[in-house]
Amino acid sequence: MKGKSVYIETFGCQMNVADTERAVTLLRAAGYELTKQDDTADVVIFNTCSVRARAEQKVFNRIGEVRHKRCGKEPLIAVTGCVAQLKGEALFAQTPAISVVAGTRATDRLPDLIERALNGEQKLLDIDERRKGEVWDVSPVERHSPYVAFVPIIEGCNKFCSYCIVPFSRGREQSRPPQEVITEVRRLREEGFREVHLIGQNVNSYRPPPETELEGFAGATPFSRLLRAVAATGMERVKFTTSFPRDFHPDIVRAIDEFDNLCNWVHLPVQSGCDRILRAMRRGYKVADYLACVESIKSARRMIALTSDIIVGYPGETSDEFAETILLVQQCQYDGLYIFKYSERSGTPAANFPNDVSDIEKTKRFMALESVQRNIQRKVYNGYVGRKLSVLVEKGSTRHAGQLTGHSKCNKVINFTGSLDFVGETVEVCILEAKENSLYGKIIDSRVDPSSSHR
Ligand code: SF4
Repeated sequence: MKGKSVYIETFGCQMNVADTERAVTLLRAAGYELTKQDDTADVVIFNTCSVRARAEQKVFNRIGEVRHKRCGKEPLIAVTGCVAQLKGEALFAQTPAISVVAGTRATDRLPDLIERALNGEQKLLDIDERRKGEVWDVSPVERHSPYVAFVPIIEGCNKFCSYCIVPFSRGREQSRPPQEVITEVRRLREEGFREVHLIGQNVNSYRPPPETELEGFAGATPFSRLLRAVAATGMERVKFTTSFPRDFHPDIVRAIDEFDNLCNWVHLPVQSGCDRILRAMRRGYKVADYLACVESIKSARRMIALTSDIIVGYPGETSDEFAETILLVQQCQYDGLYIFKYSERSGTPAANFPNDVSDIEKTKRFMALESVQRNIQRKVYNGYVGRKLSVLVEKGSTRHAGQLTGHSKCNKVINFTGSLDFVGETVEVCILEAKENSLYGKIIDSRVDPSSSHR
């Protein structure tokens, strides 16, 4: 609708960021102006996350804040994403200021819903399935970075881990046809993007309809075939996240070994190092299965950086079972670890179990695991000192003038001194110092052949 301004705020994961990029592309094409001002916008959209109860509550706080600022003309408020999908119509009763509720599969219908609401239709709800043949186009100017693009390849989740709300908010797994993914990556390359992240709740569960499978690409699974096909587009760097352990096939490691532009980083959440807890979590694998995946990753030709997620204090987790998690972390020697204290998510099976590990105990376990990981990480990061890494320079540092920052292929944050002219370029950096979560170095070659540096 011509002349109306839209403010959009995104919560949560990369999938939500990618959905917002699509929504903004569609809204601009429909004639809306995008604004960063929530206090003057005609339309305010909150693209929401429901993974934790706290994230959900944040949305209601933000709606209150925006309305409070506007003494006078109220904006049209739309709630999209996971909270919209889960709560549906109930949101209208909970917060009457909301005019549009659009779920995780309604992104391409959002401009139409907003227009109808601006024309006076009340309480519009769309939590339906995706339209067949839905277009996933994102304008390059709406991407979160001019150099790095998120490309969703699979949506939803069929795993139903006992503590997780995602299968309910994002629905069942749906894979994009590979040709569509390849076309998007080729176009991104032409537009000047240097790196793509193939994203999804579980990328390696990728299973497109058989009739859409690509021909001419070898591989033991549809995902490893897709990886090879994406690598063959010549995109400078390809990363992918998140991988699910039960669906992790060693052919993924072989593909990384074959193509230097497939980045040497795997994020493989384990969640616990105890078989009984993994069973209670309904993760569908045992510690030994996970360690077999880790072994295949560690035996790659290139050193592959490995990161993971762990939940401490799951219902019934004893201190001996937690000790098994510590042991697993020591065995895996992760490059990075995201640790979460278990928190009950209503609507999940685990919410029916007694949340019997006290908060004090959860904090103790969190800190103990964090300390173990900190020691491991110090060793891992110190191992980079003296090495050369290829770095995609993403921006100048906001805190230190003359400092640049970017990521290596192994997904380390690298800081170094240099001119802003390097932003958007790939440079070779010699690492001089390791800090807790980042590396510091100096440029040694600004004309790096992107395929030459293995790290
Ligand atoms: S794999 Fe498990 S934790 Fe991950 S999104 Fe699916 S249900 Fe949630």
